[in-house]
Amino acid sequence: MVSTDPEHIAISKSKGIKIDWKDGHASSYELGYLRDECPCATCTGAHGTPPTTKPAAASPFQMYKPTLKMVDVESVGNYAIRIMWSDGHSTGIYSFEHLRKICPCEECQDGHAHQRREARTSK
Ligand SMILES: [Zn+2]
Ligand SMILES: [Zn+2]
Repeated sequence: MVSTDPEHIAISKSKGIKIDWKDGHASSYELGYLRDECPCATCTGAHGTPPTTKPAAASPFQMYKPTLKMVDVESVGNYAIRIMWSDGHSTGIYSFEHLRKICPCEECQDGHAHQRREARTSK
């Protein structure tokens, strides 16, 4: 039985998040990975939407790409955490269930691959 209860959470705003789960599993998430896996509607809805061809107005900030980091992390109830990013994004609420699901370790990624392969369309 996979636990989605964290035993211990270690947050480094410039590196990422480490979670020790109650079932003994340990997950380590890098900042970029967490940002990519943001579960909010804006981020997940962007997939599959072709970008508009209209060129965006040249931004003076375009050349300068600040290092991504977390500005703040707050707990949401006792089931999730909310991450505020240095790029201004803050609507992503990462439930522990989601975090456990996206655990980037080899063992879990293997599991994901199997699940995907075995996914069937049933009526
Ligand atoms: Zn998002
Ligand atoms: Zn894992």
